[in-house]
Order: sequence, then structure tokens, then C-alpha cells
Amino acid sequence: MNLGLYIHIPFCHRRCSYCDFYLTTNLKLINDFVDALKQEIILYSVKYPGSTIDTIFFGGGTPSILESTHIDNIISCIKNNFNVIKSSEITIEANPEDILNNTSKFAGFRKSGINRISVGVQSFIDKELSFLTRAHNSTEAYQSLEISKSIFDNVSADLIYAFNEQEMSDVEHNLNKILNLELNHISAYTLILEKGTLLYKQFEQNKLLNIFDKDNPQFYEFVNTTLINNGYIHYEVSNYAKPGFQSKHNIKYWDFDYYLGLGPSAHSFIGNERFSNPKSLKKYIDKLSLKTLPVENIESLTPKGLKNDYFVSVLRCNGVKFEQYKKLFGSEFLEDYRDVVDRLLVLSLAGLDNSVFKLNEIGYALADEITLSFLK
Ligand code: SF4
Repeated sequence: MNLGLYIHIPFCHRRCSYCDFYLTTNLKLINDFVDALKQEIILYSVKYPGSTIDTIFFGGGTPSILESTHIDNIISCIKNNFNVIKSSEITIEANPEDILNNTSKFAGFRKSGINRISVGVQSFIDKELSFLTRAHNSTEAYQSLEISKSIFDNVSADLIYAFNEQEMSDVEHNLNKILNLELNHISAYTLILEKGTLLYKQFEQNKLLNIFDKDNPQFYEFVNTTLINNGYIHYEVSNYAKPGFQSKHNIKYWDFDYYLGLGPSAHSFIGNERFSNPKSLKKYIDKLSLKTLPVENIESLTPKGLKNDYFVSVLRCNGVKFEQYKKLFGSEFLEDYRDVVDRLLVLSLAGLDNSVFKLNEIGYALADEITLSFLK
């Protein structure tokens, strides 16, 4: 079985106002966490013997908080217990301040096998970074990407747009910085107001009433046009890459391939099951110290649930591959959904060839609404 490995590193120096990921700012448990993670890797290698790993993604949280010896230990443990193919894509997410404060650590990451870095720059404008409560400023954002490029061949940056007092000229400024740096990959997201975050509380108290009064479709179109005109492929609703630099790991999620999530709060999808780890570092460490997998929330998908999940995933990216659909559901996609497909073709929101049905640029912008017409 082929698997992508997602590893959730649940530590951050502090929590950003818009973030609802599971994490802790107490860094004392890092060593215990790494020991537990290695135990989890070993237990899964016994549960899924002979599995091949072709992508590894260190996400978080802030994986760049870890020392290079931690990352080296973790990658060695994976390689000792799984068949990791040589050309595997191995990504680490990093924050600009970590790159600037300890550049040699990143050279260590590279030596340990990390071959792709995804930097959470979010913006190159100081007032935007302050609004997002990020720890870095615009100069540091730029410098961190220059340093990343000097160490890694495959560099991605995250951008957030369409929020607060942002103008189109601000989005243009941020995109120009990215274009100057000639990065291989960009993830560009609009800001989502998540319940439970500080930003949400401020919004509820009417302190940030203007936060979502921006015309998102206009911003989205501007981001699209600028990046596509500069040689990027728009390969997923929010992701753009130079040819050959699409994220292999993230495409696994959108192609409905199997992935195994390690670390607290991480999710997995294998067979017809989805399962996740507890959102508690303590529970996670305690379970693994007893050599027990910390899995909770196991969901066996019904045929209907599986199909709904399939559409939610594939329509955002590479579309419905007819062969895969038949293998999964035992019937012909075009026979099952001819009316919906015809409607989307007439509206010029999608394209169709002998083997794939896929949304186009305009369809991507409406992916959520279009997906609803496939759900039963
Ligand atoms: S650095 Fe990233 S993971 Fe950590 S709090 Fe900020 S947004 Fe969340």
C-alpha cells in the first residue's frame, strides 16, 4: 500500500489570532513528544507492514521549532521502519523568524532529507502582519524566503489575502514580492474566521466589523490572473505551482489517495476508514508510552459517505477520473451524473475528455457550490 505521511508538530512560540489548529506554547514536552512519535511510527509499521511511503509532510503547529537532531531522528525512524522511496517529497513547514534566527538548523534539515520547505509568510506588509499577530515583519518575510531558496530547491510560500483593510494594490504588492523571488509554489488563501479564535471573539465584540467586507471574487480573480500570467499552474483552488512543482503530498488528499496522520489531532484516511488522534498532547504521549496507538474517532464510511468525501476532495483539484470512480463505486460516472455534468458544461464551468471531468478556472472559484450538486 502507498501512503503519504502527515506529521503534526503541535508546538508554536505563541498563538496567532486567527489560528484554530491544535497546538501548545509549552515547549517543555518536545523531547517526550518526539519519543512518542517514534513509538507511533513503529506501531504503524507493524499495523501496515510492507507499506511504501512516497511523501512526508511535517506540518503544525510550527515544525521549524524542532532541532535538526529531532527531525533527523524522526526521518531515520521512518526510514528504518517503512519502505521510503528515494524520490519521496519531504516537506517542512517553517516560520520566517525560525529561519532567520537559526539558519544552520535548516541546512541540517536539508541534510536529513527534507527537500521542500513551505514558509508561512502570509504577507509582505507590516500592518497586515500585525493584524494577523504574526511574529515576523515584512523584511524578515522576504529575507527568510531568500535564505530558504539558498538551501532548498523547492520553496513554497503561504499568502493570506482579502481581509481587513486590504486593497487590491496591497495584494499586488504581495504578489510582486513572490514573483521577484521566483518561488516554485504558492498557497494563497482568503482569511477564514474560525470559531474559538481571538479574531472571532473580536469580531463578536464588534471590534473588527470590516473584516469581511471585501469583494473576494475580485481578489481571487486578480491572484489567479497574476500568477497564471507569470507561468504558474493553478492546480488546486488555492494552490499554484511552476510546472513540476505541484505538492505531491497535498495532491494525495485531493486525489483521494491514502494518508496516515501522526501526532496529536492528526487525521488519517485508509481503506474506507477515517480516524484521528486526540487533540491532547498529554493523552497522546500517555497512550504511546504504553505502546498503544492513540487513535480515537474511527469512522467507517458508508458508500454514500465515501462518495460525498470523494467529490469534496477531487473537484478541488484534478477532477473525477472515470477509471478511479468505477473502481471505487462500481458504476460509470457519466451515467450517474450526466445531468449535473451537462449543466456545468453548458455554463462553461468544467471540461470533459475521454477519461476525466474537471472544473476549469471559473469552476474552481465556485468549487464549494458546485460540489453540493454532486452530494446526495
Ligand atoms: S504559527 Fe501557524 S500554527 Fe502557529 S499559531 Fe500561528 S498560524 Fe497557528
